[in-house]
Amino acid sequence: MFKPLIYLSVFTISFLFVSCGGEVEEVQEEAVEEVVIPDPVIEYGFVLDSFDVVRDTVQPGWTMSHMFQGYGLTQYDINVAADRAADSLVGLKYIKEGTPFIMLKDMEDTAKNIQYCIYPKNVVDYIVFDFTQDSTIVERRQKPFEVKEQLISGEIIQNSNLTFALDQQLKDINMTGEMAEYIAGVFAWTIDFFKLHPGDEFKVIYQEKSVEGEPYAVGEISSAWFKHQGHDYYGFKYAIDTSGTKVGMFDENGKEMKRPFLMAPVKYSRISSGFSGRRFHPVQKRWKAHLGTDYAAPKGTPILATADGYVIAASYSGGNGNYVKIRHDEVYTTQYLHMTGFAPGIKKGVHVMQGETIGYVGSTGLATGPHVCYRFWKNGKQIDHRAEKFPPSIPMPDSLLPDYLKFIEPIKARLDSLPITPYIVDEEV
Ligand SMILES: [Zn+2]
Repeated sequence: MFKPLIYLSVFTISFLFVSCGGEVEEVQEEAVEEVVIPDPVIEYGFVLDSFDVVRDTVQPGWTMSHMFQGYGLTQYDINVAADRAADSLVGLKYIKEGTPFIMLKDMEDTAKNIQYCIYPKNVVDYIVFDFTQDSTIVERRQKPFEVKEQLISGEIIQNSNLTFALDQQLKDINMTGEMAEYIAGVFAWTIDFFKLHPGDEFKVIYQEKSVEGEPYAVGEISSAWFKHQGHDYYGFKYAIDTSGTKVGMFDENGKEMKRPFLMAPVKYSRISSGFSGRRFHPVQKRWKAHLGTDYAAPKGTPILATADGYVIAASYSGGNGNYVKIRHDEVYTTQYLHMTGFAPGIKKGVHVMQGETIGYVGSTGLATGPHVCYRFWKNGKQIDHRAEKFPPSIPMPDSLLPDYLKFIEPIKARLDSLPITPYIVDEEV
């Protein structure tokens, strides 16, 4: 760290005294004066005062060659610099129009050749081109950033959504996007963010990253509360091991927020036909892909939703018979075919919980005997759920539950006492 330098300069003050006798007497005294030298100007870790500084901005259509022209570099030097900047560790393939960059030249050098170039990649990362060595060095460096705990709350109003509510407070489009994604991630298994209602509210405790006092990114969410259709949902981040590597999000009862899928949609059954790209269809009497897993079970056996989600279809088709389709989150969707009938209340739009009965085994549609054909989509593509590696589940061990509940008590109280920031409707005149 640089502190103002204080020079103690010693100089001589001469006092001339004229004595009564007319003799001139010279008295010399030493005096001390403080000379304060201002703070050196430091940017990106360089003391700018010791260089000849040129500030420039990337113009439309510029490449690195344009940037470096007129600083005594050969085209070969420029190519090497551009090549090293494109390296994956540095990550600067293209320069961006409008980016201000700094050229540092040696003050003593009459040729004023370039020594360093500093190019900011974003608010934190910057690229340093060092031309003082035999071979150009290109490095990505980072400004020091701070991480601070912050709180945010808001409400969903008519014709609004989570992004609007966040945007009004965060004032930074990247942070709004990050925050919306994080919140949706915490509650992905419990709340359908496409179906938020006016009156839904949220409160979040999170880590905010800032550089030079300016917030620029959301670090992570440590706890959150969401009121959706009158229900309270909580999420608390907690490590279930002492090393802090097994970290999960849990609700106020210690139940993991991220729910693993049930292995099968029926409790007692056998697989009568597995997932395959090609099989002989017993009814259609031809070779066909089977993009599902058949579980044979007696007619009337309850069929269970394999995870929480929203029913997006409860309907009939010639091939599927009576079927139910559930969207679990933005990634996973499941479907259950050949039902003899739906469970009471199961219709398009309702929310179902993992293990909830949605219908009963039958043989409607193209089926030879009673079974449920279970189909699984990941990002819109049908997959074999038995071969799928799901996000790791981190269940709370019973032994840790008392500690966990003690841990979340003050955090929950803090969330509960946090007021909701009202959504301000812009009134345009
Ligand atoms: Zn099937």
